[in-house]
Amino acid sequence: MTAEAPNSLEDEIRRRIETDGPMPFETYMAACLGAAQAGYYQTRDPFGEAGDFVTAPEISGMFGEMCGLFLAHMYELSGKPADAVVVELGPGRGTLMRDMRHAWSALMPELAAAELHLVETSPVLRTIQKDTIGESAPVTWHADTDELVAATKGPLFGIANEFFDALPAAQLIWRDGSWHHRMVGLVNDRFGFVDGDAATGSPALPDAPQDGMVAELCPQADLVTAALARSVAARGGAMLVIDYGRDGNPGDSVQAVAAHKPVDLFHEPGQADLSHWVDFAALRRTAESQGARLIGPVAQGRFLMRIGLAMRAEQAGTDASPEERRTLLAAIDRLTSPAQMGEVFKVALLVPAGTGQPPGFETEGSS
Ligand code: SAH
Repeated sequence: MTAEAPNSLEDEIRRRIETDGPMPFETYMAACLGAAQAGYYQTRDPFGEAGDFVTAPEISGMFGEMCGLFLAHMYELSGKPADAVVVELGPGRGTLMRDMRHAWSALMPELAAAELHLVETSPVLRTIQKDTIGESAPVTWHADTDELVAATKGPLFGIANEFFDALPAAQLIWRDGSWHHRMVGLVNDRFGFVDGDAATGSPALPDAPQDGMVAELCPQADLVTAALARSVAARGGAMLVIDYGRDGNPGDSVQAVAAHKPVDLFHEPGQADLSHWVDFAALRRTAESQGARLIGPVAQGRFLMRIGLAMRAEQAGTDASPEERRTLLAAIDRLTSPAQMGEVFKVALLVPAGTGQPPGFETEGSS
């Protein structure tokens, strides 16, 4: 293949490995997703039935409305600060923000009128976001969260849905009594995993590992969370974080998906979506280290039901045709049932330090 061939990202990665030796998996994942010309998110709209995956806001407008109502409640609890800033990290097509703003336009016009800041690297998706959110709101885009925090002054109220799973993950593997970096090298002239040097100073890795066990870290998730947490601790605000993940190290969770099907991690770099499970315990440690609090995670199904999704659907169904009612029920099932997105997806809330228990996050046993 020449540099002009369709998959030149593959050639570029191969050349880097041939010149410099194996690269950390995190570097490989960052190149696949973010490379300026050929990176996955830079080149396409990946969402929907015709794309590679479907996200909750694309399933039903009720998802965004419920998240919007929840944030409106948090805004009210904070005393409705006049300088509040609305933010979203990784807004995709802009559907979630559009639906949240729809809920606010009726019930919390202050948030509909607040400054709107989005973190998005993809030029393709920025254009789609502009179209979806419309002329009604002047939007400021940022390349990363540090830039967003530096450009704003007031408390941040907002959301990150399926954003953290797309930040590059580092993998470690346990060999002969220590954790080693997991690298991407050439194995029989194809991309494959090879062991790297021993890792030093990685906190909170799984106890009692066995040979060959894999653990994941997400240094970029820690940086993003630290920036948000510092802001929330100093200025107030509330940020919802929704993603698939667990309350601890996810182990070997990186996956590649193209056209709704799993594919090999090393198949056609830049053509498949690479993502990983989010380690909410790691986010919580980072939040607390900056003087903020991460509440949860709770399962998405439980969260949405506790904040009133079923009631909202009933309302929406009152004047609906039987066919529309079936669509509503199917959407609820997809968002909340444990067999679908209800259990694997989790919801956490970043807020200033304190002890209150917002709706949806009640601990087991209380309703
Ligand atoms: N929240 C949307 C989209 C999720 S997909 C939804 O739920 O439908 C991930 C989003 O994060 C995309 O918009 C992608 O372009 C963006 N993204 C991925 N990596 C990013 C990074 N490192 N910095 C900023 N945005 C990123």
